[in-house]
Amino acid sequence: MMGPAHSLSGAAAWLGVGAAVSAAGHPMPWPVLLVGALICAGAALAPDLDHKAATISRAFGPVSHALCEIVDKLSYTVYKATRMKGDPRRSGGHRTLTHTWLWAVLIGAGTSVLAITGGRWAVLGILFVHMVLAIEGLLWRAARGSSSAVLVWLLAGTSAWILADILDQPGNGSDWLFTAPGQEYLWLGLPIVLGALMHDLGDALTVSGCPILWPIPIGRRRWYPIGPPKAMRFRAGDWVELKVLMPAFMVIGGLGCVVALNIN
Ligand SMILES: [Zn+2]
Repeated sequence: MMGPAHSLSGAAAWLGVGAAVSAAGHPMPWPVLLVGALICAGAALAPDLDHKAATISRAFGPVSHALCEIVDKLSYTVYKATRMKGDPRRSGGHRTLTHTWLWAVLIGAGTSVLAITGGRWAVLGILFVHMVLAIEGLLWRAARGSSSAVLVWLLAGTSAWILADILDQPGNGSDWLFTAPGQEYLWLGLPIVLGALMHDLGDALTVSGCPILWPIPIGRRRWYPIGPPKAMRFRAGDWVELKVLMPAFMVIGGLGCVVALNIN
């Protein structure tokens, strides 16, 4: 799928989680619902850091471009090193390492560790990066064009600052789910894992599938492209994505939000 659909799927998934935990009697404070949905929307773009033309590789100018090159090389190296007899030869790293459950878990865990050990600036950094991505993903038309990049960074920086202040207030959710002292913001890794997994599922619906289960071997392949039967798949950017999936994500997200906030 393309950036906007990935972002919407991420936001919808977090709002759905919000609805589920609310129905189970443990509602999220609204800042956790909002910030989680935005982080998840941003994190749902991150696996395409192995692809130069993707939204994320343009989001932070030369920094993300350079990171993208490194991730592509790393992914390709890991692919070659762990390939089994049934896995085809390939020429680049796109849709390999960063498109797996293991990557999602490691990135999420890494973020959580950073959040609880790095203090306020680490939390602000995590929020800033994901706000930039969420804006690029969700407001794709408005954020297009290199001249708007600085505006997007300013908007992301301001909203990261404001949201961190809101979360810091007692009862607003810095200690959501993990309540022991010293565990503030541990939950920030959760929307990041969920966003990456939603990205992988979205890509699995497309023609080329997605090797989500790596490194668990399936038959003679370790990089087996998971996906539904061929007839149910579509091309990235196809009408199915724009006219069916994206509106569906918006409806699911809206309903999730209503249930999560207990609006009758
Ligand atoms: Zn992808």
